[in-house]
Amino acid sequence: MTQEEHPVVMELTEVGKSYPGNPPVEALRGINLVVHRGELLALVGTSGSGKSTMLNIMGALDRPTSGKLCVDGQDLSNFSDRELSTLRGSRIGFIFQQFHLIAGLSVLENVSTGLLYQGINRSLRMEKATQLLSRVGLGDRMTHLPHELSGGQQQRVAIARALMGDPAIVLADEPTGNLDSETSEEIMDLIHQLNEGGSTIVVVTHDGELARSLPGVVTLLDGVVKSDSRTQ
Ligand code: ADP
Ligand code: MG
Repeated sequence: MTQEEHPVVMELTEVGKSYPGNPPVEALRGINLVVHRGELLALVGTSGSGKSTMLNIMGALDRPTSGKLCVDGQDLSNFSDRELSTLRGSRIGFIFQQFHLIAGLSVLENVSTGLLYQGINRSLRMEKATQLLSRVGLGDRMTHLPHELSGGQQQRVAIARALMGDPAIVLADEPTGNLDSETSEEIMDLIHQLNEGGSTIVVVTHDGELARSLPGVVTLLDGVVKSDSRTQ
């Protein structure tokens, strides 16, 4: 199958985002982007180019001030805050630079609570979390607390957590930003593996070398898409 034949998971159409101020900051201007199922994309650009703003909009954490976002063919423009929150919990996985694990919870609990609000029973959640932790190489660390793990291991936990709901898309903001170069490579290998297993993933990074190792690279400049390696 060519890329075009894969279903569209996410589509941004003429998305703009302005932050109030005097003058307002036009952080994104007329962004058009299509993400197909199974893609692994890098989103790059200099500091201040709008990467985090765009990822927040793609993750329905923030609303565009103009244009629209569609996920799984659904236009989110008229979704209530509660509907957006449900969609985030069920269709979107997040991986952050700072891991954002809950300090007092075990590795297994950190991952299994991902489906807490989706009415899935505890034993199924535990089973799923256990499978995912084995998949990211932490089968022997389930009962540990986050502070007992290395940075790379903590990021693996966060990756397992992001996959709990079988999300349509996984969004990662500088996932290797807090890791040394060797650990970064391990995490990127894992991201590649997950993509080969079928996950659709968008990685924000300012690391040009890392970006070039991914199948698609979208470059932002001053809030607009400056280039998209897929269409060149
Ligand atoms: P990047 O992640 O590429 O560094 P950002 O998306 O964080 O870029 O920021 C894009 C632009 O929007 C920058 O000029 C930044 O200063 C501005 N910006 C980001 N967040 C806010 C905010 N909450 N309020 C006002 N301006 C913001
Ligand atoms: Mg940023």
